[in-house]
Amino acid sequence: FLDTDTGDKLLRLADQALYKSKENKADPERSWVLFGEEIHKTQRTPAQQMLDTGGLEVWYQPILDSRTRKVVGVEALARLRDTDGTLWTPEKFLPQLQNADFLSLSKAVLTQALADVPILDAQGWRLWVSVNIDPVSVSEACIACLREMIAQGSVNPSRITLEILEGSNFLEQQAALERLLEMKALGVHLALDDVGSAYSSLLRLKDLPIDEIKLDQGFIRTLENRPHDLHFVGAIQELAAGLGVELVVEGVETEDILDAVTVMGVSLLQGYAIAKPMPLAELQTFLGRTPSHQQHPNSLLGLYAKQLVHHNALKKSIRQDPRLVDYMTLVDATSCPVHADMQRLGVDRDGLLDKLHQAYHRAIAVMDALLIASPDSDDWSEVERAQKALEQAIMEIYCNRKTENGHPACAIENPTDPIATDHF
Ligand code: C2E
Ligand code: MG
Ligand code: MG
Repeated sequence: FLDTDTGDKLLRLADQALYKSKENKADPERSWVLFGEEIHKTQRTPAQQMLDTGGLEVWYQPILDSRTRKVVGVEALARLRDTDGTLWTPEKFLPQLQNADFLSLSKAVLTQALADVPILDAQGWRLWVSVNIDPVSVSEACIACLREMIAQGSVNPSRITLEILEGSNFLEQQAALERLLEMKALGVHLALDDVGSAYSSLLRLKDLPIDEIKLDQGFIRTLENRPHDLHFVGAIQELAAGLGVELVVEGVETEDILDAVTVMGVSLLQGYAIAKPMPLAELQTFLGRTPSHQQHPNSLLGLYAKQLVHHNALKKSIRQDPRLVDYMTLVDATSCPVHADMQRLGVDRDGLLDKLHQAYHRAIAVMDALLIASPDSDDWSEVERAQKALEQAIMEIYCNRKTENGHPACAIENPTDPIATDHF
């Protein structure tokens, strides 16, 4: 009430404040109301002003289905255009926004996206769209606004995903769960964004009504230097499958990473190797291009992923029932698809990979025979040693090639190190 100069005005504003707070009784985010528009306006940051004066642009980053190699969705990402033409990315403008602005931002982005999606539909591209919602905006007001937008009917709610940032303790609260359930009841999909970027309880994950998890880019962008993190990607895939949710991998920055995560069987991929975020017109051109059809694996990082996937699959079946796997096929490394890939890629100049691959197959065949003879044995150390020696050799060739091609030397970790835990 700082800008009031008369008693009358003060009483009027007090009255308005009372009504406002009654309107939002159930919403703890709005348990207090700030009045005094004039003061508020003069203090607005440049980013807030751009948001107020129509400087928002919505850019789209394609999300690829790795199995069909088709773009199936887009993430709508906010940009602000300054009066001098400069484009502000969220990194620059988000710190200048306040809690109350986040809902207006998501609302404006969603409104634009719901206008753009039908344009793409008309051209034959039926994509889903995901929009970022800050956890502080997950409120009754947000649900009301969402309900209104959906009622306009331009896009079926099942084609809208709301991405909520993991890591805020908001998601740990019962009230959050109730709001998310209300959102789901509107028919939209919910995704947890940047999973693994902050501490979050895996136990909580199973209680949240989410349809999708987006793994934090931190695990993916660095895969060329930390290929062992692919083991972690595999573990997250299992977790997502166990929870019955989709997994989207972000930060697919290079062709080699694209190859590796495709081989791992991650179904939804997003990153610079596919496309950077772009305005609608550019997206239309991008979607009109014929996708190139690549065979996988096509890189040594992909070959590493292939061996990892193959090993995990073999180990799982042998553990389930060693009789399911035929000893003679197992001991013969040449009948393994990894052998065919090594040949096709022509990477084994001195025959070292072939030797290590054979040693691996001998070790796993012996383990299979051992488990048939004595089902209680559980010492996989010989198999693991052989598997690690092969993985290490693949990565050494990979690194040497990169250095030969002028890339900075990569610091491949010793695969016996535990999985990086600094993200959790
Ligand atoms: P996010 O939701 O995780 O979005 C992905 C960000 O990663 C985008 O940055 C995108 O440009 C970038 N990215 C995508 N692929 C790659 C890659 O291969 N390598 C690298 N290095 N980066 C990649 P952007 O657009 O700058 O957005 C940053 C963050 O800002 C978003 O992260 C999201 O948390 C937030 N944000 C963006 N738009 C909105 C919005 O409308 N509302 C809210 N509340 N937050 C938003
Ligand atoms: Mg996001
Ligand atoms: Mg993200």
